[in-house]
Amino acid sequence: SSRVTLGPLVAAIDQGTSSTRFLVFNAKTAELLSHHQVEINQSFPKEGWVEEDPKEILQSVYECMERTCEKLTQLNIDISNIKAIGVTNQRETTLVWDKETGEPLYNAIVWLDLRTQSTVERLINKTPGRNKNHLKHKTGLPISTYFSAVKLRWLMDNVDEVAEAVLTHRAMFGTVDSWLIWARKGPPWPSVYSKTSCPLYFDIPMEILPKVRSSSEIYGLMKSGSLSGIPISGCLGDQSAALVGQMCFQEGQAKNTYGTGCFLLRNTGAKPVMSDHGLITTVAYKLGRDKPACYALEGSVAIAGAVVRWLKDNLGIIQTSTELEKLAASVGTSYGCYFVPAFSGLYAPYWEPSARGIICGLTQFTNKSHLAFAALEAVCFQTREILDAMNQDSGIPLTQLQVDGGMTSNRLLMQLQADILCIPVVKPSMPETTALGAAMAAGAAEGVSVWSLCPEDLSEVTSEKFEPQINPEESEFRYARWKKAVQRAMNWET
Ligand code: ADP
Repeated sequence: SSRVTLGPLVAAIDQGTSSTRFLVFNAKTAELLSHHQVEINQSFPKEGWVEEDPKEILQSVYECMERTCEKLTQLNIDISNIKAIGVTNQRETTLVWDKETGEPLYNAIVWLDLRTQSTVERLINKTPGRNKNHLKHKTGLPISTYFSAVKLRWLMDNVDEVAEAVLTHRAMFGTVDSWLIWARKGPPWPSVYSKTSCPLYFDIPMEILPKVRSSSEIYGLMKSGSLSGIPISGCLGDQSAALVGQMCFQEGQAKNTYGTGCFLLRNTGAKPVMSDHGLITTVAYKLGRDKPACYALEGSVAIAGAVVRWLKDNLGIIQTSTELEKLAASVGTSYGCYFVPAFSGLYAPYWEPSARGIICGLTQFTNKSHLAFAALEAVCFQTREILDAMNQDSGIPLTQLQVDGGMTSNRLLMQLQADILCIPVVKPSMPETTALGAAMAAGAAEGVSVWSLCPEDLSEVTSEKFEPQINPEESEFRYARWKKAVQRAMNWET
């Protein structure tokens, strides 16, 4: 059979918290042609600790790439049309490896991990007035367990191999993007603006840090495998990539991504906006060496899809995440049950590491279906808190919310979200916007230049809209109850 002619293709590695994907897009239409996905194991060696194996992460990327190439070949699509590869990944997850042997010196400490709680308390105690926002004017961030610099500090203080490698100048630190790009092409290894805005550095030697690069430029070529010789030319943190993939290039545009956690980013244009309402300030992207940086306000929620995984793995009330929707829809209400999944403390807008999860409002009547509903509602209420903070910071209320991420396949969740926000929720028909954003950045890089970043050119992108269906009073009542539940979850550990 004959080859299918499509013109240039661009690929993306999407290394998320729960899985790795490799996806190939048509650079003219943004159509997704083929992809492969592999689940990632997480280990929980102690309460509050979350780790992943750096080699498993790397292996999952190789596997996804090779399998996708096989699928394309079966579709008669010539893989030599792939002109560039972008990388997007879970942010803040921290790795240290030996630059001579290439061996990881410890497991990857996942962004959700809470082991740095005492490190964070120690650092906050050193600031005047014990202020977690002491460095915010410089970094845009509160001092929190979430960010990679405190994780790196912990590794240097607690893992002999890491301390020794730092002393002998063999240590390399990076987030998952740096690890993947380093492993594919050797040093020097980049970290891009959208992620280097995050680390807060505490007595950490500069030489172990990756070099800062823009999000769209050729970092190097693939060294081996079916895609050997293809440039790696795009790199964006998952949330920034989704902002690009959702075409939020204008100041004021925003998107919310529902994955393991939930992250709402609003483009604030060429200037960083400091939040007075618990949001963080971050570089969204810098799409080329000579292009200006574009900033975003971000609301980070630690637990969204992770609560679904918890109901499945820890309570066993569902066998697969898709069953949750049916279970919750069978009752259509939480019957007054509220579930605050503060498993890793609470992130935005509270930044309270000592909060812990609670389920309240239980009666004899409550059953697992109500709990399932309450879990979905929790994701929506957490998003509402972020949206309120964002509207207060910017003074301009959002009139609709663009959404994406694995959880958005849950239609009940999308309807509930519109009901609780009292604004429409808009979901693109092609859900892989994170990967699309990384592919766009790769395809637009100087020296590749097969993809324009004009939304008008992407005619195939369509979307679905969920309109609010309950009255605002009902919505406010439920939201007020949620806020009460949150107060009970706060300061549990102190
Ligand atoms: P990440 O990028 O963080 O790895 P994904 O965007 O792949 O996350 O989304 C996966 C998450 O979404 C998982 O935590 C899973 O529990 C949740 N999820 C997937 N499908 C559904 C569904 N139909 N209903 C509710 N949650 C879901």
